[in-house]
Amino acid sequence: MQPPTTLNVAVIGAGAAGLVAARELRREGHTVVVFERGNQIGGTWVYTPEVESDPIGLHPNRNIVHSSMYQSLRTNLPREVMGFRDYPFVVKEGDEERDPRRFPGHREVLKYLNDYATEFGIYEVVRFESEVVSVGLVEGGKWKVKSKSKRGEVVEEISDAVVLCNGHHTEPRVAQISGIDTWKGKQIHSHNYRTPEPFRDQVVILIGSATSAVDISREIAGVAKEVHIASRSVADETIEKHPGYDNLWLHSMVKEFTHDQIIRSVHEDGSVVFQDGSVVRADIILHCTGYKYHFPFLETNGIVIVDDNRVEPLYKHVFPPVFAPSLSFVGIPWKVATFFMFELQSKWIAGVLSNRIALPSQEDMMEDVRAFYSLLEASDTPKRYTHNIADHQFGYDDWVATECGCPISEEWRKEMYFAAIENMLTKPETYRDEWVEYDHLVSQAHEDFKKYALNGHIILDQKKVDMLMDK
Ligand code: FAD
Repeated sequence: MQPPTTLNVAVIGAGAAGLVAARELRREGHTVVVFERGNQIGGTWVYTPEVESDPIGLHPNRNIVHSSMYQSLRTNLPREVMGFRDYPFVVKEGDEERDPRRFPGHREVLKYLNDYATEFGIYEVVRFESEVVSVGLVEGGKWKVKSKSKRGEVVEEISDAVVLCNGHHTEPRVAQISGIDTWKGKQIHSHNYRTPEPFRDQVVILIGSATSAVDISREIAGVAKEVHIASRSVADETIEKHPGYDNLWLHSMVKEFTHDQIIRSVHEDGSVVFQDGSVVRADIILHCTGYKYHFPFLETNGIVIVDDNRVEPLYKHVFPPVFAPSLSFVGIPWKVATFFMFELQSKWIAGVLSNRIALPSQEDMMEDVRAFYSLLEASDTPKRYTHNIADHQFGYDDWVATECGCPISEEWRKEMYFAAIENMLTKPETYRDEWVEYDHLVSQAHEDFKKYALNGHIILDQKKVDMLMDK
């Protein structure tokens, strides 16, 4: 083991991942600068009505809007599961402006992140309106970070280590559709969806099945003439009205196709042919088909690449073995309880950089990566699902926690996560406001929050501890 050390670390991005990375790095004694191209913290959670000049988000010269938040968004996880462990996402009493719901709206999440940044003094290390334009290795294993201010000033700095926290919900991934080049209708990606109004009286085809697709399809059905989506619950070769709606149509999902392949072809007369053979004359195709990892500033001579949405090679989704530990990524896995995982990954990175936690050798890490990719191949998992760790996320979190010497995931966190997901699938309209299955888990969570506060596990002032004790 190397002697303990502290480093100068550049963190790119001041979203949830960058904030917790900054906190954990500073806790470990490192000196941190957080580069943030926006003018406030929060990343994805900074809602803006602004959309990009290219609604489908493909034009290389379009204006980039970072956030994909839509106006009505509420979290898809209960706040207890969503929050950082060291700073639970509890209801803030005595402030009328706060949203006390268990699945709060996006503004409440942004306020929580601001509380977090205030509590841990993170603002003082964030450099706002500083966009990182290149990150490249220089002699001595250090990194040159080149950033550009809003006024166009370019600054070059040398950092011992770089932690990438630039998010992965900004660069749209769209469905490939035969005939789309001559199709006369509109195409929009959910990245540029804010409100249902532009869909009023339109016939809309919505591609996708993730949480936002589920929310948006229902919201649009309130104003659109017709909304068409694909669903595995519909029998082969039939179309059904969604129960409870007059204008929301479910098309059968042909088994060999995924949600983003529901359309077989589109034609110049506006018609859209589904894989099940049904034909709809549509005005708009709305792609709720997710995003691509994108690191336009990262220069590694092709050693770290994104191929079919796999960031490779990455040891445990965090360290590229060749550059470990001086280059790392927070937040790559998806379908997870994000903030909790970011927190653990950040603790791991911070501890490795100070030599408190050891990594395997470069060869052993590469071997582990190769074995992981072989496992995915053997189970026919498409490459683009490499970082989808939904089914084993808590196993992953616990592995990282153990490396850090931290407690593993709480039982209530796991159970409440899966209960919420199950509810989301079975009762998408009501799961945010009606649940009984996990009331007991909520109580267990709050018992733990009190313990964390009392153990000094989290830095909370006495008023906050009292508030927790009263709950
Ligand atoms: P981001 O929040 O995207 O932050 C990245 C930051 O990096 C941004 O501030 C950006 O400006 C900055 N940046 C980017 N490039 C540069 C650069 N070159 N130089 C400087 N700064 C840069 N998760 C949940 O847990 N629950 C939910 O309910 C939930 N709902 C979601 C709904 C939507 C519509 C979306 C898109 C995501 C949702 N998520 C949800 C996932 C969410 O993305 C994560 O919770 C989390 O906020 C991601 O944080 P991040 O810090 O990784 O990235």
